[in-house]
Amino acid sequence: MPDIIKLLPDSVANQIAAGEVIQRPASLVKELMENSVDAGSNNIKVIIKDAGSSLVQVIDDGTGMSDTDCRLSFERHATSKISAAEDLFAISTKGFRGEALASIAAVAMVEIKTCLHDSEIGSMVKINGSKVELQEPVSCQPGTNIAVKNLFYNVPARRKFLKSASTELRHIINEFQRVALAHPGVKFSLHHNDKELFNLPQSNIRQRIIGVFGKSMNQSLINVETDTSLVKISGFTGKPEHARKTFGEQFFFVNKRYMRHSYLHKAIMEAYKNILAPEAVPAYFIFLEADPASIDVNIHPTKTEIKFENERVIWQILHASVRESLGKFNIIPSLDFDNEGIVDIPPAGNKPAEMPVININSDFNPFRDEDGYRRDPNLRAWDKLYSGIDSAGREETITGHKHKDETGHVPEKLFQVRNRYIICSVKSGLMIIDQKRAHERILYDKFIHALQNDASVAQKNMFPKTLELDQADLAILSEIEEGIKNCGFDIRYLGNNTISINSQPSASMNEDPVEMIEIILEEYKTMEKDPGESNREKIAACMARAAAVPYGRTLEMPEIREIVDKLFLCTNPNYSPSGKPIVSIITLEELDKKLR
Ligand code: ADP
Ligand code: MG
Repeated sequence: MPDIIKLLPDSVANQIAAGEVIQRPASLVKELMENSVDAGSNNIKVIIKDAGSSLVQVIDDGTGMSDTDCRLSFERHATSKISAAEDLFAISTKGFRGEALASIAAVAMVEIKTCLHDSEIGSMVKINGSKVELQEPVSCQPGTNIAVKNLFYNVPARRKFLKSASTELRHIINEFQRVALAHPGVKFSLHHNDKELFNLPQSNIRQRIIGVFGKSMNQSLINVETDTSLVKISGFTGKPEHARKTFGEQFFFVNKRYMRHSYLHKAIMEAYKNILAPEAVPAYFIFLEADPASIDVNIHPTKTEIKFENERVIWQILHASVRESLGKFNIIPSLDFDNEGIVDIPPAGNKPAEMPVININSDFNPFRDEDGYRRDPNLRAWDKLYSGIDSAGREETITGHKHKDETGHVPEKLFQVRNRYIICSVKSGLMIIDQKRAHERILYDKFIHALQNDASVAQKNMFPKTLELDQADLAILSEIEEGIKNCGFDIRYLGNNTISINSQPSASMNEDPVEMIEIILEEYKTMEKDPGESNREKIAACMARAAAVPYGRTLEMPEIREIVDKLFLCTNPNYSPSGKPIVSIITLEELDKKLR
């Protein structure tokens, strides 16, 4: 047999390697912004066209590069940031692998102009798909101006897999925000298709957070500050009453690098124990500084996870520190430090703590409204509607098989368990219904119908609620606006990133329209769309999520009955729109077995 192993041509090897670093336009934004920060820039301008698929350009006033460096910077493993393996343990820059520019040049068309500050003349290099097309002297501003055009133009399979413009733009905005939050001392701006999305002057951390997330964040921020020998913690954490049910405002930065850290996230959540509404997550912007040698730097270039040497101790310090801040601001009644063995935590603040005030809307009645489907308090209309349904077929949908002998009547014995499940006695045993998923299914069918027929019922707000959104959320809102209007939302743009909500779907059992919009946006962001699913279905699913009766809500008997009745009129009462089971039956045999 002949020899069959060949060395891949450089261009192919580079394209493969590039896939590791450059996954989408947002990766360009991150890598180029980080290079500009590493180059000591004070002013960094990011220009995007078509959500980054035609252009990502970053202009900085950093050190710039010499002619030779400029050419060399596109070679793989070309970096000015480390030179020996020991350096890996003392990294203070964002980059150090020397891979980003080489990767970018392999899969896009790059044009760079760069000039050192004490130089008369700068250099320009053009590279397409790793091939240097041009290198010549130019006159340009000190600093670096790099334009990356037509990402993946030579890898059609990858270009095809870019998501919608709004999705790619959202990823870009996320990366932009992370770098901007980590470096408040640097001025950043972001422009998309000639529209300025952000303009963030040099500032302190607090002002930077407000610049990114809007003025309404200001009242929510509580200072967090702790200095220990292991780690220095600074930043802000959000007041519990401002906590949203959506993720998006939780940030850890370790040595000025954005990181996800689910273990440390728990330290913060634990500090808020018992003072948050169910499912709410506080905003936080926590900056940790630790000796680079105590951090595992050998992380994948695009991963945002990190490993500390003393993770458990850091957990405790962070937990105690957030708790102390909440205590100082009278948010939690007492400080219960549990940090034996940590000697260098400063004492807690000396202001006496008071009991927290928790507001609960005790007189909310979800059946208050004018929607036909709830008008009758006794729900007689439903009994009537119901009696016409084929009982055998209906029962079959519940279990999928062999329960055709069920009576098919609404089980009279209904009750709610832990404000979460509805239990009914049925002929074959005990039926358990997940209240939220059931309501989600009911609403989903209703919203799909509204979206098809433009037949929504809206409930007007006497006092319209206003909500400030960031650019990423505004972009999503404009994408789904028409759909959610058809379902009963009336939304107006007030300028200054603020919207007012003038009406919401009357079928909603979530009484807070602001929270609903937040949940819809968050669901829409995180929900991966099935290839076969239409946008209408996706919108209906997000809306159903947001409007469904939450867990933890005590239901009145007529409400329980209505949910049960309506569920079994749905097209698919067995599964929620996101595919989770709604109904389960514990059979008599199973019950008998338990007591045998
Ligand atoms: P890394 O950042 O890991 O070193 P990159 O491929 O991102 O690798 O960049 C390679 C080198 O090019 C950097 O080490 C730096 O010396 C230089 N460089 C890149 N971008 C800039 C910039 N905006 N200003 C000055 N130098 C830069
Ligand atoms: Mg870099």
